[in-house]
Amino acid sequence: MKDTVKSLRELSCGDDYDPNSMPVAKAREFIARFLAPVTAVERLNIRAALDRVLAEDVISPFDVPAHDNSAMDGYAVRCADLKADGEIMLRIAGAAFAGAPFQGQFKAGECVRIMTGGVVPAGADTIVMQEHVTVSGDNVRIGSGHKHGQNLRRAGEDLKTGQIALKRGLLLRPADIGLIASLGIGEVTVFRKLRVAFFSTGDELRSIGMPLGEGQIYDSNRYTIHGMLTRLGCEVIDMGVVCDDPKLLEQAFSAAAQTADVVITSGGVSVGEADFVKDLLEKLGEVVFWKIAMKPGRPLAYGRIGNAHFFGLPGNPVSVMVTFYQFVRDALLKLAGRDPLPPLPTFRVPCTSSLKKAPGRTEFQRGVLTQDASGNWSVRVTGEQGSGILRSMSEANCFIILPEAQANVAAGTIVEVQVMEGIV
Ligand code: AMP
Ligand code: MG
Repeated sequence: MKDTVKSLRELSCGDDYDPNSMPVAKAREFIARFLAPVTAVERLNIRAALDRVLAEDVISPFDVPAHDNSAMDGYAVRCADLKADGEIMLRIAGAAFAGAPFQGQFKAGECVRIMTGGVVPAGADTIVMQEHVTVSGDNVRIGSGHKHGQNLRRAGEDLKTGQIALKRGLLLRPADIGLIASLGIGEVTVFRKLRVAFFSTGDELRSIGMPLGEGQIYDSNRYTIHGMLTRLGCEVIDMGVVCDDPKLLEQAFSAAAQTADVVITSGGVSVGEADFVKDLLEKLGEVVFWKIAMKPGRPLAYGRIGNAHFFGLPGNPVSVMVTFYQFVRDALLKLAGRDPLPPLPTFRVPCTSSLKKAPGRTEFQRGVLTQDASGNWSVRVTGEQGSGILRSMSEANCFIILPEAQANVAAGTIVEVQVMEGIV
């Protein structure tokens, strides 16, 4: 591990490395350089593979669709039989249903009744929608204006035999599971879940069920961290609350690093009397201690203890969540084998609140995006932005991202927002 940090420090010398005020983008870049994804895999039934990371390319074993088939309920015809202007009468030679192809011979001057998904009979090349014909007995009358090949789904137009349907490194969503099922594949190889151990630090913290003494508070960070990790599909190892006692902290760090791929703590990373995390980590592992030019979440430690990656998050509940979403989330996905990782989308909308902002740091204010009666979106801030006000995260549905150089924002200004919720 010494090598990792030595190389980080060496590399950092000529690379705008300022551990006391690291710009957000730079900190992300540094962290990303040291993340080697897990390699162990497991074989899972596709239903159980939802939200897991694919560890193999999924190859199509056949053409999709397997046959030319109809995209509509209607009549399969030979385009050459139709008239450029005027009508033609065609005899109905039989029917093709989804799963029950037409069995007869298809001849010139004939058509075949066909349903959506029905195999197009050999010789037919065009589907006329049933709404565009007049049926009389065994015949249909078809007018002009039809295009060769219309309403027809070609064999192999989605996927050809042997083509990669899904790439290794994909986080499997419901659509992907369905696509794998459509190929008749019941099991896939995924990377094993990332094991993440976490604990809260602080003498003032009590767990739920314990009475609160003067100056004591309930530990909420362990619950938000548990939730965020679970959403990311990690195997979570909750190690409880550890007091601000260097001996106990040392034991907790060592135990966590032995069992987990990643260790996350909250609190104790500032420079107060009881903030032991930094010193301990320098003793036990290799830590690059960062003050990031951001608000909330200025103190954030990243490094390694043994083989485990370490993230020392700040103590304030909002700072914990912001630093997790802005740094830890991407790092965990990369460690879990996800690749390539598309950036989370951001949008530009008018902000109806005026915002206080000092230049020199990126701010992640908590916002509420709403749509007015005319369909226009705007964002307002969720009131007070103190980093201890967890309600501001609970009420928010987006981050308002204010770049480093930005000063105060007047109401009506266009700002960048990052939506918190995704539909899939
Ligand atoms: P620290 O970084 O340890 O100085 O903590 C900063 C602030 O966050 C203090 O007000 C702590 O009481 C608070 N805090 C730290 N850890 C937690 C936690 N697990 N749950 C709720 N608040 C916390
Ligand atoms: Mg503390």
